[in-house]
Amino acid sequence: MIKHEKKESLQSGWAKPAALRRNLLTFFALTIPVVFFAASAAAQSQKAPIQITADLTDAPRRLFHAEIDLPVAAGPLTVITPKWIPGEHQPAGPVDSITGVVFTAGGQTLPWRRDDVDLYQFHLTIPAGVTTLHAHLDAIVVTNVSQKLAYLEWDKLMLYPANLPVRDIPIQPAVIVPAGWGIGTALTPMGGGAYPVPAPGSTTRFAATNVEQLEDSPILAGQYLREFILAPEMTPKHYIDVASDIGGDSNLRPEALAEIANLVREADALYRSHHYTQYHLLLSLSDTAGGLGLEHGQSSENGIAEKGFSDEDHQLGDADLLAHEFTHSWNGKYRRPIGLYQTDFATAQEGALLWVYEGMTQYLGNVLAARSGLRSQPQYRDVLAISAASLDYTPGREWRSTEDTAVAASILREGNQAWANWRRGQDYYDEGELLWLDADTLIRKMTNNQKSLDDFQRIFLGKGGNTGPLIVTYTFDELVRDLNQVVGYDWATFLHDRVDQINPHADLAGIERGGYKLVYADKPNASELVIAANAGPDAMVLNAWYSIGLRVGAENTIKDVRWNGPADKAKIAPGSKIIAVNGQVFSPDILRAAIQDAKGKSEPIRLIVQLDNFVSVADIDYHDGERYPALERVPGTPAYLDEITKPLASPHPAQPKVATSNQ
Ligand SMILES: [Zn+2]
Repeated sequence: MIKHEKKESLQSGWAKPAALRRNLLTFFALTIPVVFFAASAAAQSQKAPIQITADLTDAPRRLFHAEIDLPVAAGPLTVITPKWIPGEHQPAGPVDSITGVVFTAGGQTLPWRRDDVDLYQFHLTIPAGVTTLHAHLDAIVVTNVSQKLAYLEWDKLMLYPANLPVRDIPIQPAVIVPAGWGIGTALTPMGGGAYPVPAPGSTTRFAATNVEQLEDSPILAGQYLREFILAPEMTPKHYIDVASDIGGDSNLRPEALAEIANLVREADALYRSHHYTQYHLLLSLSDTAGGLGLEHGQSSENGIAEKGFSDEDHQLGDADLLAHEFTHSWNGKYRRPIGLYQTDFATAQEGALLWVYEGMTQYLGNVLAARSGLRSQPQYRDVLAISAASLDYTPGREWRSTEDTAVAASILREGNQAWANWRRGQDYYDEGELLWLDADTLIRKMTNNQKSLDDFQRIFLGKGGNTGPLIVTYTFDELVRDLNQVVGYDWATFLHDRVDQINPHADLAGIERGGYKLVYADKPNASELVIAANAGPDAMVLNAWYSIGLRVGAENTIKDVRWNGPADKAKIAPGSKIIAVNGQVFSPDILRAAIQDAKGKSEPIRLIVQLDNFVSVADIDYHDGERYPALERVPGTPAYLDEITKPLASPHPAQPKVATSNQ
């Protein structure tokens, strides 16, 4: 996921030849814990698959329906719905949105009772002679759906026997979509029907898989769905399936498609292996369906604004999203921290290594976005400056380690912005980016640029060569071993120092070893201006974080106050609305001018603020002018940052980008 990420699943390794499975198993058994997607042959042959048909014809009214047939035997039965959705990093299974549950067998309605402790479980008693239990349910869907498109995440509708490994439960999916809507998915259609646009009212059936894989295999359906093949010279095949609320927007402009195709080529040049039989980037463009980024083994769910790919300026803010979620196919899905994999969706997942799962993905996603041309190198540096500065000015780092933000991920994913800088948020993403940049530049320096973190990725993410969808777990110790294969160093201490310790300042070593330094200018960098101008209603209208210590959003309301900063000392509270600045009615420009005017003087900046129904005066004692982050080249040093963001794949057919940095 991206920071607001979500989830998904796929098709299967269980069709992999047995001999190959055994060889892989032997290979991994020597070194690391391993888990296969493969259902055992016994489980497949002995049990008929669950049949699940998802009916999306009411998706525009925010309702999904499901008809499910489960093979059963007489006696007590407990069925369950998913709780810990992979990639969500929290127990977010939407059991509270399930309604209209009716179980029937042999024409009779069967009574059920929810478990008193695990609210995801339903208990029933199957009568003698019954071999099939039918379940109907409806799901109320509030996100990632609009009048014109919908993401089907199967965990919203799934019911399956409890207390079994989900990879051992066979299931065969089918879907009905609104008339005229198309389907994008990595699931394998069974043939016979029209695909990807089914005949109105028809049911599209897919090959049988297992519950683990189906959860990882979402469907994007939409009236304006278009599918494009990417980098057609490559095997396996890669597609982007785009749905939008307005007809023309799913027809991506050629420049964007060229850059996305470059992303596929650059990922191949970086990782040199893959762990899918085909890959579908699913992309929704909608101002109403909501943002989304959720990884899967053979696909990813990506949701941005309706015009998010309409031109380069709109593209800039989310330019790393596709690269981030695609990278998760290797880092997060194939290789997964041992605590983040459980054999069912009921057991809690442990987030301790999310600074690898998400943090390294954050690094690689931004690097791949630059290598593929989705962002220019100056834009890459601008965005890096913004995130590095934000981390450096997060006072919560004085009491809380980065590792603790990962361990506590499940309670940090949502949450009020008020005082978030003192609490810290999901900092393992951006802290991880700085950490892995530090490691990359250190490897380059120690090897005179002969080796890099790219070499580590080929070892760590490429073990076993090309495979179908597969999960192989890892531990901290394996990370250290693999880093040492690239270049010998005390990597355990390197990682512990940066992750487990209290570090009052952000890790800027990678930027500095990369030939740049983080500086503060008196105006925002070019990319920050472009991103803010295209960010929609949630945009910051003024980022005075590094000066008076405020971020101001829509309706002149203060999103957050920097702990122990000038505005905090003036007793201003997050959520307050700024009414006036030095006697003038507030506007962002008026406050900027006041910050400039106060430079070098002794008079405070006087704000009138309103919190709820109360109005007060706050005098901010600040005199150092405006400050906005940027990266500045340090002459005469190796520019590893530019080396890192150069394309690897050749030739590189991307359109040249117009540099928008003021550097
Ligand atoms: Zn992610």
